[in-house]
Amino acid sequence: MDVQPKASHFVNGAPMEDAAGEAIPLIYPATGERLGQVHAATEAVVEAALASAKAAQTGWAAMTGTERGRVLTRAAQIIRERNRALSELETMDTGKPISETLVADAASGADCLEYFGGMAATLTGETVELGGDFAYTIREPLGVCAAIGAWNYPMQIACWKAAPALACGNAMVFKPSEETPLSALKLAEILVEAGAPAGVFNVIQGAAEVGAALITDARVAKVSLTGSVPTGRKVYAAAAEGLKHATMELGGKSPLIIFEDADIEDAVSAAINANFYSTGQVCSNGTRVFVHRDLSAAFLDRLTERTARAVIGDPMDEATHIGPMASERQLSIVLGYIEKGRSEGARLVLGGKALPGPGWFIEPTIFADVTDEMTIAREEIFGPVMSVLGFDSEEEVIARANATEFGLAAGVFTRDLARAHRVIRALEAGTCWINQYNLTPIEMPFGGVKASGIGRENARAAMEAYSQPKAVYVGLTPVEAPF
Ligand code: NAD
Repeated sequence: MDVQPKASHFVNGAPMEDAAGEAIPLIYPATGERLGQVHAATEAVVEAALASAKAAQTGWAAMTGTERGRVLTRAAQIIRERNRALSELETMDTGKPISETLVADAASGADCLEYFGGMAATLTGETVELGGDFAYTIREPLGVCAAIGAWNYPMQIACWKAAPALACGNAMVFKPSEETPLSALKLAEILVEAGAPAGVFNVIQGAAEVGAALITDARVAKVSLTGSVPTGRKVYAAAAEGLKHATMELGGKSPLIIFEDADIEDAVSAAINANFYSTGQVCSNGTRVFVHRDLSAAFLDRLTERTARAVIGDPMDEATHIGPMASERQLSIVLGYIEKGRSEGARLVLGGKALPGPGWFIEPTIFADVTDEMTIAREEIFGPVMSVLGFDSEEEVIARANATEFGLAAGVFTRDLARAHRVIRALEAGTCWINQYNLTPIEMPFGGVKASGIGRENARAAMEAYSQPKAVYVGLTPVEAPF
């Protein structure tokens, strides 16, 4: 498959190239093969992208919500029609198996564009009666938004940021991760095809320096990042310096709590989805699996038996469950954590090894007898490494689940409804599941608390995050003055 894009960037409604920018190789994680390259944005490209977004934004905001929504809905239709090709591209870029990308990447992006396409016309203010006088509010877009993506869900992240921003009448400059530059370019093309005016959605490539150049520019009103906590701290600080709006979707080390009365098959399925989907490269993964001691042995038996059946291999084969890690660097980070797990005394019950190359494959790995102070229970690994920890009481597990700087997600498995809701209320996490894990429908707000982030994506919350109220007091009564 030829993945080489026409040009590195998409600015002002058209592909744009500037070969003076540093080369970024396109590497297929399943083989390590170099498939092409793009160039990082030079200062001239950054300037062109911001200038085109600034110029396009006012006209876009002046259109009705219905008109803007129609563009987004059309884009959703085009994405669905091209789902196969877009999914193959995403697999080439990330290494994620096609069995996943066909249903979870461009498809989720289409859901998002459709949802916010429908919601665009519902962006309204309110009237406030003031006893004679009254006030009203206008929900206004923020202006130009800079958005920066991670490499695990490139198309989904681009859509989750672009759709609500554009629905509200903002323009956007999007910088994908330098590891996965391709699908955002497709989204930009599709939006133009769907009728978006030139400049409303621009894509530029590059690493940290290009991201930093965007967020410090005076024309940018809002910054939205999906990335790690250390990057989040830097980007949030830069946004604060410029007094810009910010949404931070960051990392996690989320707890999945399985009580003794849980349905064991469902709990095992959830633990598998919460650790091995996308080869474990999911921010909301439930990587600390707390299992009640009464259930531990049965749970581990069933989990290892089912995980041992996972098909690892060619991500383009629809029968494959687990593809390679997205990059060689990520593979070596994960292997380092597996070594730490072993040396700190966790019991390896499955996996633990990289597969012989080519490609950056690794076995799904399960550690049991993990304790809270072990590195693998404290740090985000971002790979297929599950830590199983035992617990005895509800109170104890809540305290241990919350004893982390992260707070992205959490899950609880129990048949006791009162306990389920009680525990969820006590957990410090932004996105939670009861008897389910890692489903993130567009209708549900998504995001973290504590170090896992600021603000929410998806649902109506995202419309609020990409707009602000202007309050207007209307005097209908005589103006009183002291003299
Ligand atoms: P990363 O933090 O290394 O990079 C994220 C993005 O930020 C990249 O595009 C990178 O080029 C850019 N960047 C890096 N330094 C920057 C700087 N100083 N200024 C501006 N931009 C900068 O993260 P990653 O390795 O691409 O992705 C993995 C991380 O993302 C994990 O921690 C994961 O949990 C997190 N993540 C979070 C969510 C979520 O929604 N909460 C979703 C996916 C991934």
